[in-house]
Amino acid sequence: MTMQRKILIRWTNDFLQLFYPDYCSGCGTLLVRGEDVLCLECLSDLPFTGFATERDNLVEQVFWGRVRIEHAMALCRFDKGNKLQHMLHRLKYKGDRETGRRLGQLLAHELKRSPNYNQLEGLIPVPLHPRREKTRGYNQSHVIAEAMSPILQIPVLNHYLIRQHHSETQTHKGRYERWENVNTLFDLLKPEELCGKHLLLIDDVVTTGATLEACASLLLEIPDIRVSIATLAFA
Ligand SMILES: [Zn+2]
Repeated sequence: MTMQRKILIRWTNDFLQLFYPDYCSGCGTLLVRGEDVLCLECLSDLPFTGFATERDNLVEQVFWGRVRIEHAMALCRFDKGNKLQHMLHRLKYKGDRETGRRLGQLLAHELKRSPNYNQLEGLIPVPLHPRREKTRGYNQSHVIAEAMSPILQIPVLNHYLIRQHHSETQTHKGRYERWENVNTLFDLLKPEELCGKHLLLIDDVVTTGATLEACASLLLEIPDIRVSIATLAFA
């Protein structure tokens, strides 16, 4: 598809949304007044983990022995075929930023209720490679962080952690190879400005944790810094 065609389709979609009603991102039913992106049923069906207040939860365990994380959590469990998978697919591949915004808000409210996350000073979205961000039109982690920022009243620090090289597809690699590969992917700009801060790394999904580990390890080279992790889902 040519770039012009993509832009035209995006414009058309934006235009149509002005006149057509919204449908639930989880099940596709028509939303009623008061519902935002998700219908009440999908919202109450979300498989929340409760990890925000749970010490040594499964997401924290992912990073044990790998990198020193203060706190880590995921909002929901990611099961194959559940509605959340459908929502995250829309966020990542269908240009549906609204789903990212809504889930980001839910994530922020969950963190706000937990004493573990009340001393954060910056939200750092895991960066996407610029080429991929250009084709997708946005970085989904940044969309999530932007939605969280006003609720937590913490700024998004988007220009410190950057991605440098394009990685080949990592699906068929083992954890060590993958770590070696992702470890050269990120770089820090003006790290001295982050000294002494407690930062929250944000991504859509945590699976092996390799990407988040690489980001956290790099950030932890800064003196007197603390890093926590929050994602929408845990697979
Ligand atoms: Zn629904």
